[in-house]
Amino acid sequence: MKILLCSSEIVPFAKTGGLADVAGALPSRLKKQGVEIILAMPKYKGVDEKKFKIHNVSDTVSACDANGIKVYFINNDFYFNRDGLYGDKFGDYKDNLDRFLFYCTQTLALLKNINFKPDVIHCNDWQSSLVPVFLKNKLNNDPFYKEIKTVLTIHNLAYQGLFPADEFGKLSLDPGLFGIGGLEFYGKINLLKGGIVFSDAVNTVSANYAKEILTSEFGCGLEGVLAGKKQNLSGILNGLDYDIWDPAIDKFIFKKFSPGSLENKYENKHSLQKELGLALKKDVPLFGMVSRLARQKGLDLIAADIEKIAKSNVQLVILGTGEAVYHDVLEKMRKKYPKVISANIKFDDVLAHKIYAASDVFLMPSRYEPCGLGQLISFKYGTIPLAFKTGGLADTVSAENGFVFDKYDVESFLNCFKKAQAAYKNKKKWQSLVKRAFTYDFSWDESAKKYINLYKSLSR
Ligand code: ADP
Repeated sequence: MKILLCSSEIVPFAKTGGLADVAGALPSRLKKQGVEIILAMPKYKGVDEKKFKIHNVSDTVSACDANGIKVYFINNDFYFNRDGLYGDKFGDYKDNLDRFLFYCTQTLALLKNINFKPDVIHCNDWQSSLVPVFLKNKLNNDPFYKEIKTVLTIHNLAYQGLFPADEFGKLSLDPGLFGIGGLEFYGKINLLKGGIVFSDAVNTVSANYAKEILTSEFGCGLEGVLAGKKQNLSGILNGLDYDIWDPAIDKFIFKKFSPGSLENKYENKHSLQKELGLALKKDVPLFGMVSRLARQKGLDLIAADIEKIAKSNVQLVILGTGEAVYHDVLEKMRKKYPKVISANIKFDDVLAHKIYAASDVFLMPSRYEPCGLGQLISFKYGTIPLAFKTGGLADTVSAENGFVFDKYDVESFLNCFKKAQAAYKNKKKWQSLVKRAFTYDFSWDESAKKYINLYKSLSR
């Protein structure tokens, strides 16, 4: 079976969040199970040509080999040679429609140029949603393309790729497609909606989120469109790449460890406290968080409670970037409580690994969470997740293996936080919680099988 995976970010080339982790890990697991797969992404400024031995294929395409998988990069300096992937500190780039229209058009053209005719094109999020739209509405009479099926994976329904109606002409589609059965959404162009309508199957990244997005609470206005696709809508939990996320082989952390050498985990705590200027205290629980600093991720709860938290004999290490309002709160608290709170406002892969390894508890109080990778990573590092019961968090974290609150408000979050603090005091119970965390297996193999079944169900 032949697959093209389209993703706007892929580890190790470019990453802003979980999509890159998924697109970086799933292909090699599919390949291991016999799938012939190629990848396509835009070539951003940050993609290291030398390191990955990227060579030119044509004016608009370059390529490299990543562990036996061919990765194609769509080149356009004007569109992609920028610091950010989707925007800068002023917000989203104004020409994102042009940028991802170019990416989708060139990706489809590339297939013909290299004569690779996939059975299925696996698209991800709004950035590659024009691929199914074009296959069904522009290329449907072209013998090369007409039998190709599409899967669209939604990693976060809240990001839909919305653009002003007057840009619709750029897509060179029948004007009738700017309507309720097409890409129109409250007077705007909605790329994700187009992807949902015109792909052959839609899936999201946990079984629970697949159900939630059919409701008005989580559907972000697309619940009706998704209901129309219900027969072809499923949830496949993301896996983790244990070649990257494993404390026994992790070269970024201070000291490698495994369930049999837990004392080394606590050396990571000591070293991180030292590196970040926190008080060197062994018996104070260290709460870690690595996240986009967005309301989605529960930052409003943290901001509301942070002063109480700071005074409650814990330590808090946060790594993230995002909304300015949270940058300000965290910076202020870091200055006020430098021995207790470490706020690191940046994207830093190495520090992320260190935080997963050093923390006792990992915070994921997300308001909604399609899958969530942080909790899966923390299990592997013997770090106990504290999560709101939603989406993929509800599928993976419970009172058995972590700390969960099921009412999204400041009081419930704080109570849950206190529960974790109290549990930490009982050394024996804590140790068994940590040991249990190591036993979970969220590797990709099972989920990759499910993707293969999904592809097969379409290409029959
Ligand atoms: P998202 O909604 O952002 O995709 P996920 O939990 O699915 O959330 O994935 C987030 C991924 O990005 C995880 O691998 C997490 O460790 C990583 N990450 C988030 N913020 C940062 C940061 N500031 N520095 C390094 N890694 C980060």
